Amino acid sequence: MDSSRRKQYLEALGVEAWQQRGSVVAQSLTETDVAVSPAVPAPEPSVPQRVTPANAQKPDMPRKFPQAEPPAAAPKVERPVPSDWEGLKPAVAGCTECKLCKTRTNTVFGVGLQTSPLMVVGEGPGADEDAQGEPFVGRAGKLLDEMLRAIGRSRKESAPDKAVYIANVVKCRPPGNRDPEPDEVEACRPYLDQQIRLVKPKLIVALGRVAAQRLISTDAPLSKLRGPLYEYGPEHTPLLITYHPAYLLRSPGEKAKSWADLKRVHQFLTTGKL
Ligand code: URA
Ligand code: SF4
Repeated sequence: MDSSRRKQYLEALGVEAWQQRGSVVAQSLTETDVAVSPAVPAPEPSVPQRVTPANAQKPDMPRKFPQAEPPAAAPKVERPVPSDWEGLKPAVAGCTECKLCKTRTNTVFGVGLQTSPLMVVGEGPGADEDAQGEPFVGRAGKLLDEMLRAIGRSRKESAPDKAVYIANVVKCRPPGNRDPEPDEVEACRPYLDQQIRLVKPKLIVALGRVAAQRLISTDAPLSKLRGPLYEYGPEHTPLLITYHPAYLLRSPGEKAKSWADLKRVHQFLTTGKL
């Protein structure tokens, strides 16, 4: 990853006090790379702890988030969905499993390398995505592309070490850009789960409060969810949570923290550790 990319990202994010350390470039990102201001906390926790059902109950664990499960009231039986890409995509395109089908223009399936080590999961399509049938193509999408570019990745790349697969928790636009409702997320979950099974990512990154809360079944605010490495689903796929780019457009104060998160994403993907 070259320094102009990082510069571009930081400019896009409005982070001013970037300090380049010698000629080191981002293959070996370190904490001091993020030295911006005292307001930027070190990523936490320093010894990352995977939050699993097994350790979630231990009294000394500060965070207790269960692995994602359907809500207790929801039926346990998972609707069968096609097990390959060829079947899954048309199944989503014709889906009428929840009320969002009535107001959508296009379903928004996913984009990127179908074997990418990094899978990014957003909330749901907005107006631009509904019109074009592709995730993250509006203003927030442009910022997401910059964020990904800063860690050397792009939805157009086919080399695994540069690629990403991008999807949403719901495939149809919630009208008026409201949050997707729990029943809609549950109706759509088998598609996302099948995408995860097929992509087999090394890491899932959930963008924003809604995606995060739905994926790990919690009501905790995003500020409390950043940090730990979670696991998702029967494959126990590692999962990190960070800010949604639309939120970053509204809240410039959080941009440096977003960059700290992205560096952890890059580090996990390149070293397998945080
Ligand atoms: N926001 C999302 O969460 N997903 C998109 O696809 C676009 C905007
Ligand atoms: Fe089907 Fe998901 Fe669209 Fe609902 S949001 S209609 S479950 S594809």
